[in-house]
Amino acid sequence: MTTAQDPRRKPFNGREVSERITLEPREMPTSWYNIQADLPFDLAPPLSPATGKPVTFEEMAAIFPPPLIEQEMSRERYVPIPERVLDILSLWRPTPLIRARNLEKALGTPARIYYKFEGVSPAGSHKPNTAVPQAYFNKISGISRMTTETGAGQWGSSLAFACKQFDMTCRVYMVKVSFTQKPYRRTFIRLFGAEVVASPSTLTQSGRDILSRNPDSPGSLGIAISEAVEEAASRSDTNYGLGSVLNHVILHQSVIGLEAKKQMEKVGDYPDYVIGCHGGGSNFGGLAVPFVKDRIEGKKVEAIAAEPASCPTLTRGRYAFDYGDTARLTPIMQMYTLGHDFVPPAVHAGGLRYHGAAPIVSALLHHGLIGAEAVLQSAIFEAAVLFAHTEAIIPAPESAHAIAAVVKKARELKEEGRSAAILFSLSGHGHFDMAAYEAYLNGTLEDYTYPEAAIAESLGNLPAVSL
Ligand SMILES: *Cc1c(COP(=O)(O)O)cnc(C)c1O
Repeated sequence: MTTAQDPRRKPFNGREVSERITLEPREMPTSWYNIQADLPFDLAPPLSPATGKPVTFEEMAAIFPPPLIEQEMSRERYVPIPERVLDILSLWRPTPLIRARNLEKALGTPARIYYKFEGVSPAGSHKPNTAVPQAYFNKISGISRMTTETGAGQWGSSLAFACKQFDMTCRVYMVKVSFTQKPYRRTFIRLFGAEVVASPSTLTQSGRDILSRNPDSPGSLGIAISEAVEEAASRSDTNYGLGSVLNHVILHQSVIGLEAKKQMEKVGDYPDYVIGCHGGGSNFGGLAVPFVKDRIEGKKVEAIAAEPASCPTLTRGRYAFDYGDTARLTPIMQMYTLGHDFVPPAVHAGGLRYHGAAPIVSALLHHGLIGAEAVLQSAIFEAAVLFAHTEAIIPAPESAHAIAAVVKKARELKEEGRSAAILFSLSGHGHFDMAAYEAYLNGTLEDYTYPEAAIAESLGNLPAVSL
């Protein structure tokens, strides 16, 4: 029986009451789900930037601890979550699944809309789900310091929090535009004991090279990754942590989808559509993988990644081998890419401006197991404000990409007069994003679709790879 038919549910004051579907802490998943065990195809191995051959364990060990390298390559279906990690995750997990009744009503749609709210975490997004295990596995491998990059500041905040839990220090290279635009994210990172540096910086060769060519460089995720990787590779006490893209990150984020599936079972429902916003692929991947498993096994469920039209990696990029960073220090991965020296425009969904995409998400899209669509900024903020008015949560602009895709689907279902269940990831709240909402309310946000010629130009610089 679906909740729509539940006789106990009565309108309150003429309004439908939103419904939270919660799990007890003891119902939290105790293992991560690894989609690599169930893929009907092989993932291409990442290639070494030095040799062009599959990257070796030793090469990876310069910046990652052994347990994370093993997870990156693992074909085990379930990987146990360490007790200590479960303890910390349970400070905010399981996260609620909420039936968006007021949004449904405002849209007049027959769709049943559910969202998994990851904004209840310490950083206000899904990112601590992987920051905590990454810090933990580094700590037990004898590492005392981590470096990383951050774009909008979410990942830097998450890793700073996680390192503090294990008495480790952390240095965050923050993309310069965000460093200037988001001072309170800097404070957040420092409050948890980490150091934050504007990137490009003079602390690394990669940063100095960029600055000598362009002293006013606004920075990019690709540049900040180069700086963080360079520093980690040069110090034995320091490793690097990446907030998205990699297989082990999607593994850690699978808690989102595993919990959501249990929660939907509790109300006797199952999603026809699973929707998430896409930057590097971790919240979408984490929500979608348990459902993609069902699809591989023959169940009818459609997962859709929603990305900005201004950084259209999945919808207009090429499925190719490319570097993960601008200075070409990271392994070469098979993924959808706009080219490693693509510099995205300064749109306000700062967390969705990466040139590449997770190899797992890319392969699923390439093999037709998921779909992708691009959304414009105006539709995103319109959907975000409607969501705030109806469901009382101000979403992160990143998450609002998913909401815009949900609104579109719910309207289509209304026109077709068809009921269906939509599950989406509300990856974070937008409390640090008031500058973006201010611009929207002042009418100064502009829609931007990346020009084809510029994409073609950066795709002209892909590495030559012979397999
Ligand atoms: C970082 C971030 C994203 C994008 O990253 P993914 O790896 O694609 O999930 C989305 N939403 C929020 C709130 C974020 O902080």
